[in-house]
Amino acid sequence: MICGKGEREGVELHVDHIKPKEYGGEATIENGQTLCGKHNYIKKTYKQTETGKKMFIRLYELAQKSQDYELVKFCTEILEVFERNNINGHIEWKK
Ligand SMILES: [Zn+2]
Repeated sequence: MICGKGEREGVELHVDHIKPKEYGGEATIENGQTLCGKHNYIKKTYKQTETGKKMFIRLYELAQKSQDYELVKFCTEILEVFERNNINGHIEWKK
């Protein structure tokens, strides 16, 4: 669905709920799509990385407030990985 890859390219296809089951998405044709394994994984982990990024931003701010520079450095390294790979770019990290 996203990259257009399928069995011809040796890619396993997953049947995905467009609106996830845990958010009330139904098992209907209208709510279904096929995604390759990679894109299904990215979609599933997206919410988790959002929570992770928010948590590290909060930890970074707390570390700055308490002048814990070891922790500031640690959080910076992780948040730079998010930025370098353009993951959850809509969540702003104020350095
Ligand atoms: Zn794909």
